[in-house]
Amino acid sequence: MAWSSSASHSARIVVEGQDPYSLSDTPVKVHDDGWQIAACPVNGPAVTARGDTVVCLDDLSSGRRSNIEPLTSSSRFTFVEACVLDPIDVEGEFEGVVHLASPASPRLYLMKPIFTLRTGAEGTRNALDFAAANSARFVLASTSEIYGEPLVHPQREDYWGNVNCIGPRSVYDEAKRYAEALTSAYRSAVGTNAGIVRIFNTFGPRMRPDDGRVISNFVAQALHGGPLTVYGDGSQTRSLCYVDDLARGLVAMLDSDAEGPINLGNPVELTVLQIAALVLELVGSASRIVSCPLPQDDPTRRRPDISRAQGLLGWSPRVPVRTGLARTIEWQANELRQNLAS
Ligand code: UDP
Repeated sequence: MAWSSSASHSARIVVEGQDPYSLSDTPVKVHDDGWQIAACPVNGPAVTARGDTVVCLDDLSSGRRSNIEPLTSSSRFTFVEACVLDPIDVEGEFEGVVHLASPASPRLYLMKPIFTLRTGAEGTRNALDFAAANSARFVLASTSEIYGEPLVHPQREDYWGNVNCIGPRSVYDEAKRYAEALTSAYRSAVGTNAGIVRIFNTFGPRMRPDDGRVISNFVAQALHGGPLTVYGDGSQTRSLCYVDDLARGLVAMLDSDAEGPINLGNPVELTVLQIAALVLELVGSASRIVSCPLPQDDPTRRRPDISRAQGLLGWSPRVPVRTGLARTIEWQANELRQNLAS
């Protein structure tokens, strides 16, 4: 497939992803500095920054086509339905490759363990080969999961982690750890301008309400008036980053030559019970909280040290969790209304 960019100064970027992270709550967002971040939230994230031309590859295995529909009218955006396990087959020269592809929700990656491992291994290799062939900047979306059950808190990038390499979550954790190793090897052996970001829990509108993650679940449950399912005693912590902040961090990483790894996340740490209470308050729901079994190897504490992102990328999150949650609830409520009406 051939395509061209009308803006000669702009970059051409391939973004791969099927259900990694929400990238923005609005399909196309013009920022104060004139940048445009076109986003395909939960699936097939795309970044059309400053008029960049973007090809987004996604197999839609966990994502939704509706998330990218608002982008398809842009001449600078092309969507290609393709699987990350196949070599990337798009014509033209590219300056950037953002490799986000992978199931990211525990519920989804536990349903597809082999696929998840192959995505991290073969998928990352295909993306790196494509970047190398184009002499493109490559950004790997890695994850806080590579720290496993961390014994160091907050997590700094020089901490090597504590992962159960045969536990259920290993299909995701080890796949991403391998992807980091492969990316590092391409940097040293092939000379690829590759960088790694480790993304902590991210949320926002357009996440699938049924993807099984904590925000999608709690918001859906509160909106339906059902009980909120807290796993374990709810004392485990997560740090929640709003999607627009994450998107800004990814673009900053793409624009830099930083090697990383660099943590991207919001250091505000909340227990799962606090998250549940916040959702109930913002929805205005009287739903009760029920305790469910804690999944095996569910990390007890998670909070990023973001001093590296601040120093190297000038990046910090800006959107408070409350604000992000209110936007997410509004979006999910609209989605629910539309579903009921249809
Ligand atoms: N969680 C929960 N109830 C749910 C979904 C998740 O208590 O309905 C907890 C889960 O046990 C974990 C945290 O919320 O401690 C975050 O889970 P999520 O699946 O969103 O992502 P993770 O950080 O585990 O990859």
